[in-house]
Amino acid sequence: MAKAKGVEKKAISFVRTASKLKIGAHVPSEGAGAIGSRVVSANSIGANSFALFLKNPKRWVSAPYEAKDVAEFKRICLEMKYDPLTDVLPHGSYFINLANPDPVKVENSYNCLLDDLHRCEDLGIGLYNFHPGSDLGSDHTEALKRLATNLNRAISETKFVKVVIENMAGHGNFVGGTLEDLHEVIEQIDDKTRVGICVDTCHAFAAGYDLSDIKGFTEFWAKFDEIVGFKYLSALHLNDSKAPLGANRDLHERLGWGFLGLECFRLLVNDARFEGIPLILEVPFGKDVSIFGDEIKLLEWLVGRSGDDSEFVAKVVELQKLGAPNRKEQEAKFVKKVEKRKAGKDIASMLKKSKK
Ligand SMILES: [Zn+2]
Ligand SMILES: [Zn+2]
Repeated sequence: MAKAKGVEKKAISFVRTASKLKIGAHVPSEGAGAIGSRVVSANSIGANSFALFLKNPKRWVSAPYEAKDVAEFKRICLEMKYDPLTDVLPHGSYFINLANPDPVKVENSYNCLLDDLHRCEDLGIGLYNFHPGSDLGSDHTEALKRLATNLNRAISETKFVKVVIENMAGHGNFVGGTLEDLHEVIEQIDDKTRVGICVDTCHAFAAGYDLSDIKGFTEFWAKFDEIVGFKYLSALHLNDSKAPLGANRDLHERLGWGFLGLECFRLLVNDARFEGIPLILEVPFGKDVSIFGDEIKLLEWLVGRSGDDSEFVAKVVELQKLGAPNRKEQEAKFVKKVEKRKAGKDIASMLKKSKK
C-alpha cells in the first residue's frame, strides 16, 4: 500500500458506474476516528467497493470506536449504497503474523487480529483481509499449521466475519506465496464458510505466476481452481508490478505501467468469475487520491474491449511508456540479484566439489 500521510484535500468527484463489477480502492485514512469519512472518499472516487484500515496500522492497540462513529459509518454506507457485508474489505495491520514461532509475539498478533475482527462485526463488515505472515526461518509446515490454528480460534471467537487470506510475493520467509500454501491453510480450517482468499495480482506475478497474457492468465486461474478452489475467492487486489516476473518483490505499480501490463486487467474485467467480489486497487497514488478515480475509470473503459481493439493497443503503448523508468530501475536490480544468486551457487558448488 502506498503511504496515506498528507493526503491532498481537494474536491474529487467521479461518478459511480452501476455494474456487477465491484471495482474500488483502498481509501487512505485521513486523521483519527471518523471512519465514516472513508465511505465518502470511496464514493467520491467512483468506487463500488473499498478497503480501509480499521485502526492505525502501525500500532498494536488503538482506542475502541465510539458508538456515534459506528452509527455514522453504517448510516453513510446505507445512504451511499455500500453493503458492508459484501462491498467493504478492511486490510489488517501489516505486522500481524499468526505464523510467528515465538509464543508471546504470536499472541500479540492474535489479539490485534481479533480486535480487528470485532471492529468488523461492530461495523457490520463481512470480509477481513490480512497477510498470512512469516515463518521467520522456522519450519514452514508448522508455520502454516500455527496460522490455521489461530484462525480457527479467531473464527470461534467471532460471529460472521470471513477471514480473507492474501497471497504473498514469495519474498523472504513469508508464507502464502504459493497456491499450495493457501490450500494447506484452508484444509485446516474447521468452518470453511468463514475463510476466503484475496488474490493480489502484483504479488502473484512477483511470486512467479505469469498472468500477463491470455495463456498465463487462463493457466493461473485453472491452477487456482484446482489447488485452492474458486469458491474461496473472496476478493482481488488489482495492482501492476514494478518488478519483473518472479522477482519476489512486493512493489505495486499503476495499471499498465508495470511488467504485468494492461492485458491482465482487460481479461479480469471481462470475466464473469470476478463479478460481485471487491476488486481493490492499491496502486501508488502519492498524495493524490483522484488517481484511484482515474484507475477505476480505466478499468471500466476496458469492459467489453477486445485485445485487438486499436484504442486498447494504443493505451497499452501509452501506459508502458509512462512506466518505463520504473521498470528499467527494477529490472537492473533484479538482474543484479540473479547474478549474485548465481555467483553464490557457483561458489557453493565449488566448495562442494573441493570437499569431495
Ligand atoms: Zn494487496
Ligand atoms: Zn503488496
